[in-house]
Amino acid sequence: MTDFAIAPPVRPALDVVGTDATFPVRRIYCIGKNYVAHIREMNADERDPPVIFMKPTDAVVPNGGTVPYPVFTENLHYEGELVVAMKSGGYHIPVAEAESHIFGYGVGLDLTRRDHQAEALEKGLPWEVTKGFDKSAPIGPITRAEDVGHVVDAPIRLSVNGAIKQDGNVAMMIWKTNEIIARLSEQHALEAGDLIMTGTPAGVGAVVPGDVIELEVAGLVPLKVLIGPKVA
Ligand code: MN
Repeated sequence: MTDFAIAPPVRPALDVVGTDATFPVRRIYCIGKNYVAHIREMNADERDPPVIFMKPTDAVVPNGGTVPYPVFTENLHYEGELVVAMKSGGYHIPVAEAESHIFGYGVGLDLTRRDHQAEALEKGLPWEVTKGFDKSAPIGPITRAEDVGHVVDAPIRLSVNGAIKQDGNVAMMIWKTNEIIARLSEQHALEAGDLIMTGTPAGVGAVVPGDVIELEVAGLVPLKVLIGPKVA
């Protein structure tokens, strides 16, 4: 056995509701443009298919954490989303078999540098700057599907400082969770530990230091994070 040349990075893990175990995070896949009302508020073409992108694994922030207001943006936006946690995977997963690969569900924020997203869209640039920055993925504890069932019709609500900003239902997703898994697995071999952020309903907006964001999907543990002072 050889030693690591440097201390190995710590793999992020999320609490699993009702157990002492944690869910180790492998990859964070994200679906964009998956609710018609959000596509409309972004002035995008609602006939465009949903898009797939990724966030780095170490962007995870656990429930109750603080997200320092990031560098390199003047327009930080929240996007509240249902998160799917995978226990197995593979290529070419049929829609009818997709749910059998799901470990459980949580809620998460797809934090976005909206100013750089506009620039990326205009110039055809990659999305890491707008979507994949440090601490851009606050995600709450995972509730096992065996405990809560599959989350296909559940209200999703996000508030900032107690005022409701997003009020939708995951049943409004264009690609349903089983379809997302099928489509993703046409491009990537999904594996145990993968998380999928499933897109946001309408009502996205900006936050500033001191704001408290709360996100809930009925049946799951809510997420609460504080936006901290701007990174020095
Ligand atoms: Mn999103």
